[in-house]
Amino acid sequence: MHIGHLRTYVPADVFVRLLRKMRVDVTFVCGSDTHGTPVLTSAEAAGVPPKELYSKYHRHYLETFPKLGIVFDNYGTTDDPENVERTLQIVGELKKNGYIYPKQLETPYCDHCKRSLPDRYVRGECPYCHADARGDECDQGCGRYLEPGEVLNPRCAICGSPTRLITKEHYYFKLTAFEDFLRDFLTKVDGTKNAKNYAMGWVNEGLRDWNITRDLDWGIKYPDDPTLTIYVWVDAPIHYMSSTEQWAKKIGKPNEWEKFWKPGNGKLVHFIGQDIVYHHCIFWPAMLKGSGYNLPAAIVASGMVKIRNHNFSRSRGYVVWIHDDYLDKGLNPDYLRYYMVSFTGHTRDLDFAFDAFADKVNIELVGTFGNFIYRALHFTKKHFGVVPEGTIDPQLETEIKRSIETVIDAANEYELKKVCDEVLRLASVGNEYFQSKAPWILVKEDKAAAGNVLFNAIVLSRALAILMDPIMPNIAEAIWHQLGYEGSDIHNTVLDDMLTLPAIGTEIRDPRPVISKIDDDLLNELKANIDARIRAAEVSDRGEPTVSKENITFEEFKRLDLRAGKIVSCEKVPKKDRLLKIEVDIGTEVRTMVTGLAEMYSCDELSGKTALFLTNLEPKKIGGIESHGMILAVEHANEKGKWIPVWLDGVPPGSKAA
Ligand SMILES: [Zn+2]
Ligand SMILES: [Zn+2]
Repeated sequence: MHIGHLRTYVPADVFVRLLRKMRVDVTFVCGSDTHGTPVLTSAEAAGVPPKELYSKYHRHYLETFPKLGIVFDNYGTTDDPENVERTLQIVGELKKNGYIYPKQLETPYCDHCKRSLPDRYVRGECPYCHADARGDECDQGCGRYLEPGEVLNPRCAICGSPTRLITKEHYYFKLTAFEDFLRDFLTKVDGTKNAKNYAMGWVNEGLRDWNITRDLDWGIKYPDDPTLTIYVWVDAPIHYMSSTEQWAKKIGKPNEWEKFWKPGNGKLVHFIGQDIVYHHCIFWPAMLKGSGYNLPAAIVASGMVKIRNHNFSRSRGYVVWIHDDYLDKGLNPDYLRYYMVSFTGHTRDLDFAFDAFADKVNIELVGTFGNFIYRALHFTKKHFGVVPEGTIDPQLETEIKRSIETVIDAANEYELKKVCDEVLRLASVGNEYFQSKAPWILVKEDKAAAGNVLFNAIVLSRALAILMDPIMPNIAEAIWHQLGYEGSDIHNTVLDDMLTLPAIGTEIRDPRPVISKIDDDLLNELKANIDARIRAAEVSDRGEPTVSKENITFEEFKRLDLRAGKIVSCEKVPKKDRLLKIEVDIGTEVRTMVTGLAEMYSCDELSGKTALFLTNLEPKKIGGIESHGMILAVEHANEKGKWIPVWLDGVPPGSKAA
């Protein structure tokens, strides 16, 4: 699990906790998506059966969620028997209602791999925006869902061969019959504007019927033709329903799921990433409508996550892992929850950087929130030991009421950043109150008056703990404990409890700061880990040696322009420890190239030397510099990481290899 995953899980969990504080009866379900080509291609790459692969990830997720305070009422998988059964029931119902029909379809086939190429097994050109796209989605371009057979110039994603088309009978869902319904649905559905607007745009472009079967041996078998499986985007959302069924069984009320999914009952709210809006705003409501189930009341789509302002990319090193980079460093999960919710509005892209993270913790959480609570509790403990006598200041009472109204609005608008903003605002009110009343002076002159100030400070601390609870449940518990609420669970409090006055005489327990600063050494270590990962990816861009199992033709070999080049100058690339910029005389011209050899060779050692270069490698930006060509080096067979250039000392630049 990496930080990108939390963009949706954390706000959804905060939302659920906040609803419960508003006395709403909520069931929170989700599950692992196990079918389709994403799982199958990964399993094939790992050389394990798909079930083994998804089980491993599923366990990892199940173990990680509670460590982040994300508590589902049920988290199953789309491969569970309940989901297979519910999918077959819904597909059967759609068929009975006349929404499914067979049709001959031409799909790509690879003669080299001897297999059909559904979805991710094929790449080609997006017919809409012409970006490089995979078979079922324009993943690098416009984000559209693509029907099988739609990508232009298809090629096999496994071996790169061009494909030919084969014809087979497939099954279609009559999406076009739902056009008017969807227009109406999208006008009425609640949630975030991004989801509704994108989806309405697609409806206005015109819908096409949807191919819901795949020539694939992994997934739920299509009942009328066992050589086909049901497309993953049919059974994946159905798991929301079957996950609710699993929860109902677990609590011993097997029909309880119906109160959400049968029409006229509870409200369904989907928290999704904006990359899957099409599936949730178009396919899913049409399927529910066509099979007679309840429709989503709201669709809430989050923006994506960037790492240091770069698009998330594992292969380029722009990734932050939850375990390795965060939990294993001893960082409190609540700080990350706070960051994920407070950084920006829900529909915007969230940028993650450890510098910004440390600022959030040190300035907002420690400086404003933690500071007030620590001062209030510490001072009370020191001078009174217990909650002193007092009456609530009407101005503070008004501020607390305002906070309650603001966070109810936040929940109704699906904008949870407002909850964080409100916590900070109320904490600032507390700091100003404390500062202006100066109880440290008052206590020497009028102890009862000082007691009244501290009583109010405790009222505010208590309100702040309740307000912070949906976002930072561990920290809220710690404050609750210090406030002396033995045997009472802060997670069961509701927003109105923010106005309940603390019992006079309750013992304050050993106050200490509930949030600690991220110290500079740890911050530097966290940043260095990410730096190293990005650098390593840059170096491997230079071309890792791969042992080729396949022969290439002599024609293919002849396309390589390999020749002697003389390094005429060399300099370090600023801020990139492993990279050197070299100017290379290749006989016909002097080329700029970037090499990852800095760890083994200094510029002094390279300057003036002649080595073998590949000169017709396509130009690429490495470390911000356009590199055109590559020095060839061999990796020492017994010393991994030791690279030796193919030296050609004394050979004139431009001499060609053949
Ligand atoms: Zn192939
Ligand atoms: Zn596109």
